[in-house]
Amino acid sequence: METKILSEKDAAVAAQIIRDGGLVVMPTETVYGLGADAFNKRAVANIFKAKGRPMDNPLIVHIGKIEDLKRLVSEIPEKAISLAKAFWPGPLTMVLPKSDDVPDEVSAGLDTVAVRYPSHPLAETLILLSGTQIAAPSANLSGSPSPTELGHVIKDLNGRVDAILDGGSCEVGLESTVISLAGDKPRLLRPGGVTVEEIEGVIGKIEIDPAVTDKLKEGERAASPGMKYKHYAPKARVIILKGSDEQYIRYVNSADQSKVGAICYDEDAERLNVPFFSLGPKNDAAAQAKNLFSVLRSVDDAGIEIAYARCPSINGVGLAVYNRLIRAAGFEVTRLA
Ligand code: AMP
Ligand code: MG
Repeated sequence: METKILSEKDAAVAAQIIRDGGLVVMPTETVYGLGADAFNKRAVANIFKAKGRPMDNPLIVHIGKIEDLKRLVSEIPEKAISLAKAFWPGPLTMVLPKSDDVPDEVSAGLDTVAVRYPSHPLAETLILLSGTQIAAPSANLSGSPSPTELGHVIKDLNGRVDAILDGGSCEVGLESTVISLAGDKPRLLRPGGVTVEEIEGVIGKIEIDPAVTDKLKEGERAASPGMKYKHYAPKARVIILKGSDEQYIRYVNSADQSKVGAICYDEDAERLNVPFFSLGPKNDAAAQAKNLFSVLRSVDDAGIEIAYARCPSINGVGLAVYNRLIRAAGFEVTRLA
């Protein structure tokens, strides 16, 4: 199919494509999303086909106003209301008991649905003009890093979707924080731009799913189905190096393989004698979040075979950076002595 590249002024054209059951890639403040009418089963099935996404990995439904929530969920717990007031519109997804209206294709047969109200004005406009709610996973081919720039989307999905709405580069750069409010206790399933510290400031202590930082054990069930898949993976082998600045520089510079690269901080760059791809300043987790997926794609574009990465600190947004990088590395970590 021919993919139309649309700009802000064509939002109504994009909304009509959604109403007609087509696929539209929309910019959001987290990453680009591959959207379709959440209530059109065939359109939703086409999302999975376009991405090559396993059907058992449920989608997030995007709303354009708080009232839309009522159509999607069977119950709105008090804590969900508090979180919506504090963080919506924004990079927070809530998993809630689903209403009967939400097709099983969206929730992958679960009795819950993930909902987010994005803050990107173009996403909001598209959802409101379409007159429905939009199911949208990240707009990449399944397995590859999520797209944070128009060029990433074109590379992965040109010819596979009806239209792409150009919204420039995504501000947060990592997918939304996912929290489940469908169980006994609120539980973080995926870290993102809204931090654990910020959430706990509103609803008190939350549980952190072990899969946020650690590999699932053989046969263990993933609380968030997406966590069991190989994710964010560049073609290069990524190895996280845990150690001091000095140890990192020394280790990388003494690596004798060809096609080695460094996924480093700005401060490391001038001391490295291999090709480097900087995540941003060492103490700026927000910059690292914004740059991570572009860096992973650039590593592949440069033909790097082994990329040695710094180990992000797990405070604040750093937890989300760590969560994605450790998956990109297939949980391969070397401690430098
Ligand atoms: P993506 O759309 O690529 O950002 O992925 C959406 C993430 O939300 C995946 O990790 C899904 O597994 C997770 N998710 C979506 N719906 C649910 C749900 N009902 N329960 C738990 N996790 C969910
Ligand atoms: Mg994704």
